[in-house]
Amino acid sequence: MQDGAASRCDPRLMERLRKKLVKKLEEEGIIRSDKVKRAMLKVPRELFVPEQLCELAYEDTPLPIGFGQTISAPHMVALMLEEAELDEGMKVLEVGTGSGYNAALIAEIVAPRGSKNPGHVYTIERIPELAERAKKNLERAGYSDRVTVIVGDGSKGYPPAAPYDRIIVTAAAPQVPEPLVHQLKPGGILLIPVGDRYSQTLYKVVKLPDGKIKMKKVTPCIFVPLIGEYGWREDEAIYV
Ligand code: SAM
Repeated sequence: MQDGAASRCDPRLMERLRKKLVKKLEEEGIIRSDKVKRAMLKVPRELFVPEQLCELAYEDTPLPIGFGQTISAPHMVALMLEEAELDEGMKVLEVGTGSGYNAALIAEIVAPRGSKNPGHVYTIERIPELAERAKKNLERAGYSDRVTVIVGDGSKGYPPAAPYDRIIVTAAAPQVPEPLVHQLKPGGILLIPVGDRYSQTLYKVVKLPDGKIKMKKVTPCIFVPLIGEYGWREDEAIYV
């Protein structure tokens, strides 16, 4: 870390700001469970944002991470974690690794350190340079044993590790990609923003034990586009 960043982003200051943000998200009713609260208190977001932006790590806002992409705002991350109803031992696919922050939070819930029944997180990113950086971030933060980073088109899911208990998509699709529904276990939950380029809705897709699908609208949202075979074509996508 450069000298300036080291003093602006002192770990004790970061911890104070992290606690303050978590308290705010709890008061706003976004964080509702102990497990999401514990994970958000544990994972240092400053290790996942560009070094020159570390002092903004606990602002409730998306931040640029390069290549036209963003680390999502903490309130959206927390809301998705709550809606995902994650539990220890689950196998989770995240589509859109970005910085690796959300993957670390998921790992903190499904595979906490010392768990007798650890789950695992597979996270897939289409931009190789971001995947590489996310791997380093996850290693630095102590999650590389619980998170596997893959480079590829996550709109097709990741068949080698399917089926999944949960699939969390952090980029917006024009419709729900069929392969993702297919790769979900019966009883599983898929969270995905769907809509056009300017306005989207976060959907919770539940695969019932008999294989039927139930879809619920969670909240309006704005994400960067999911680009791929079952997402947008690269030339159709604009970056928000
Ligand atoms: N979850 C991330 C985090 O914690 O930093 C934020 C994700 S960012 C909002 C969306 C990411 O999805 C971008 O890094 C983008 O490159 C990636 N993406 C877009 N289309 C994709 C695809 N088909 N497969 C995998 N990743 C994709």
